[in-house]
Amino acid sequence: MDQQADRPVPRSGVLAIDPYVPGKAKAKNGQTIYKLSSNETPLGASPKAIEAYHALSHFEHYPDPSASNLREAIGDVYGLNPDNIICGCGSDEILSLLAYAYLGEGDEAIFTEHGFLVYNIATLAAGGTPVVAPEKNLTTDVDAILERISEKTKMVFIANPNNPTGTYIPFKEIRRLHAGLPKTTVLVLDAAYAEYVRRNDYEAGIELVATSQNVVMTRTFSKVYGLPSLRVGWGYAPDHIIDALNRIRGPFNMNSAAIAAGAAAVRDQAFLEAAVLFNQQWLPWVSKELGKLGLKVTPSVGNFILVHFPEELGKRAADADAYLLERGCILRRVDAYGFPNALRMSIGTEEANRDVVKHLADFLK
Ligand SMILES: *Cc1c(COP(=O)(O)O)cnc(C)c1O
Repeated sequence: MDQQADRPVPRSGVLAIDPYVPGKAKAKNGQTIYKLSSNETPLGASPKAIEAYHALSHFEHYPDPSASNLREAIGDVYGLNPDNIICGCGSDEILSLLAYAYLGEGDEAIFTEHGFLVYNIATLAAGGTPVVAPEKNLTTDVDAILERISEKTKMVFIANPNNPTGTYIPFKEIRRLHAGLPKTTVLVLDAAYAEYVRRNDYEAGIELVATSQNVVMTRTFSKVYGLPSLRVGWGYAPDHIIDALNRIRGPFNMNSAAIAAGAAAVRDQAFLEAAVLFNQQWLPWVSKELGKLGLKVTPSVGNFILVHFPEELGKRAADADAYLLERGCILRRVDAYGFPNALRMSIGTEEANRDVVKHLADFLK
């Protein structure tokens, strides 16, 4: 890297970060556009959340620095002590706060081969060193993580289920991982898609947080709750970790709209149930229909699927992406996640799902 002495230079980890490339938001020609690139819900947010947003006025006042209404609402609904909840500008902020609080020069953070990209960004930004553990069958491999633990390991990030693979590990595997970690290593359980998972052997991690001193669970309002534009995320952690994070977070990190809409959204569990049911209907349908076309779909428990394309000139993921984009369907390229020949598709409305299947059938002809 070109070290210039005549201008400020960021810490070395900062320039080691590849700029995050978000899912595309626009297609061409003013046609109907189905944005299936960011795992957003096709059902929007609860009408109660929208109402709470519109009821706001008095923008001249600072927001509540402790986001009490939101923490209390989350506490009520999930059965948690609000004192052990911290809210953030998306769960991305909670992940960054964790990295800044616990990682420094020489410290290592482990995450998996196809893990969520924010772990790499947060680790490098904080000055830590990323350590990547290989996966097995596109799934977190606890043994591969345990093999990479050393006295330098200060944090382990696990997305369960993971994005972009959609795979998960049973909670007994998380417990086995936790049992093998030093007491001084923070285990971060990113449960962004927990509400969607309907499996008997799955847990988001609430009990493990409550019964240990080194586990944090993060959650988001960006997916099933339909509020990504307002940036609402939260973490559940032991007192001493909440205390550390509160010391470094911006005092007004949550704006009033996020607090009010988030609180209303979480209290509307009937709306959430409907969104989960919708996904339970369409996730298997899309997976099956794409399978019939001869495409390999990684089995997913989230609200998105990873679709693998043939190693054939003109039929690769990049070709499919361009073809779908022409027709108003925006999926997500996942090259940066180590999948140069796959696309990630969020489950959309019925029309969107049918459209993608129809276009891919034509594309593969
Ligand atoms: C979408 C997502 C998040 C949530 O991001 P926000 O900052 O809350 O919008 C966190 N982790 C994973 C794995 C995700 O896919």
